[in-house]
Amino acid sequence: MRRMLVAGNWKMQGSMHSTREWIDRVKVTSSPSCDRVVFPPFPYLGAAVEAATTGELAVGAQDLSEHAEGAYTGEVAASMLRDMGAEYVLVGHSERRQYHAESDAVVAAKFLAAVSAGLQPVLCLGETLEEREAGKTEEVIQRQLGTVLEQCGLSAFTAAIIAYEPIWAIGTGHTARPDQAQQIHAFIRSQLAGRDAKLARMTRLLYGGSVKPDNAAELFSEADIDGGLVGGASLQAADFLAICAAAC
Ligand code: PEP
Repeated sequence: MRRMLVAGNWKMQGSMHSTREWIDRVKVTSSPSCDRVVFPPFPYLGAAVEAATTGELAVGAQDLSEHAEGAYTGEVAASMLRDMGAEYVLVGHSERRQYHAESDAVVAAKFLAAVSAGLQPVLCLGETLEEREAGKTEEVIQRQLGTVLEQCGLSAFTAAIIAYEPIWAIGTGHTARPDQAQQIHAFIRSQLAGRDAKLARMTRLLYGGSVKPDNAAELFSEADIDGGLVGGASLQAADFLAICAAAC
């Protein structure tokens, strides 16, 4: 495992053609000190796994069901994602929490489903602008993380990654200042350290929220920022590669 990780979340964008083109472009470049993961929409996962043959790029899903199997029309189980060759999965992205009413408890159930199937969950945490302005950022992060820790246990975090994604910075062009992001990353690490110091050191903490080629290096130079979860700027392979270069 490398220390740094850069992940691209395409959200509901792209096509079969653009997926194959993007992966063909990224997989031929190497990243000596940075793991790279792409999260395409569900229908393109198979093609992405098939195209990403070199080990230079892993593939993940943007969501999963909290249930292992059953009568849940339209849902996708963690075991099915593993079956397709996905290695990672986003859990609790703010767009899922906001538009699909995913509670902290549902997010924790999804986290556990991912871990149980052998997927590496990327647990997304973050506050709204109102919560930040009310001085509640740490309270929100503590609640979101605490629910997963309580419901899933510390051992579930062994392969986990945590992404701090302030909602006010996602897709808005308003990146958190590096010192603002670092402050919350240090807080997240301290929450883990209070339970297990080694786990806290080992867990990779990504920053997400309008990361771009021109602000990535500054963000990644902070002590507790171990890479980025990148939305908009990950759609263009050249921008994604420039962000990866800033992490290496
Ligand atoms: C995201 O979707 O997780 C994200 C961080 O988006 P953007 O980089 O576009 O803000």
